[in-house]
Amino acid sequence: MKWLLAILLVLASLALFSRPPGPLHFALAGARASGACAAPMVRFRGAGKDFPALCRSAEAAIAFLSGLGLALRHPVQIDIVPVLSCTDRNECLGCFSASRDRIEILDLTARNQGAFRRRIFGFDVDAELLGSVVGHEIAHAALHDAPEKHGRPLPRGFQEYIAHVTQLSLLGDQRRKRVLERYGDAAFTGPEQMTAIFYQIDPEKFAVMSYRHFLATADRKAFIRRLVEGKESPYELYFR
Ligand SMILES: [Zn+2]
Repeated sequence: MKWLLAILLVLASLALFSRPPGPLHFALAGARASGACAAPMVRFRGAGKDFPALCRSAEAAIAFLSGLGLALRHPVQIDIVPVLSCTDRNECLGCFSASRDRIEILDLTARNQGAFRRRIFGFDVDAELLGSVVGHEIAHAALHDAPEKHGRPLPRGFQEYIAHVTQLSLLGDQRRKRVLERYGDAAFTGPEQMTAIFYQIDPEKFAVMSYRHFLATADRKAFIRRLVEGKESPYELYFR
């Protein structure tokens, strides 16, 4: 009788280990969610519970940029990582590596450790704000696809203008209103003011001034085209 019991135990354990993934497997996979969004151009790795929200932000960013004539023309991998390898700026929450066609976004849990900044626009970083960072980096990826009709890379200040306008467009109305209010009525009045130096000194004020300028622009698509085609220059380029 003992041998019969032993055989039954072996059969039972075989059945246990060879069965297809059950709820536990799916729960573990969900904790580090990876995969393609509905928009096939973006694929996340390690997004965890924020995966649906970050996908929505990525898709909204792609649609926003397409509406401005800046379609994302190649698939981009977006990795959620504990440490960013494509920038050495401590305050950054994301970066785009053109050489690797890869966006890195700082992990939610890692953000709450170490010496880097934990808030953006005065808020603790949540999925909505992190999604806006995803949109910002997708803008950099789309600009990398834009033809260089003027024979030189798009000035950094203009890249950041387009990336920040995309980023703020992804926020909910109430959140965006509060972000804009932090800087009174400050707004760029012309492209010559959108300099890399200003961006580096105060990136959040740069973002707000960019967005207000964008709102006040009558033909936004035409303006973006002028920037991308090299028909405008920031001040710093006049002195080179
Ligand atoms: Zn940027």
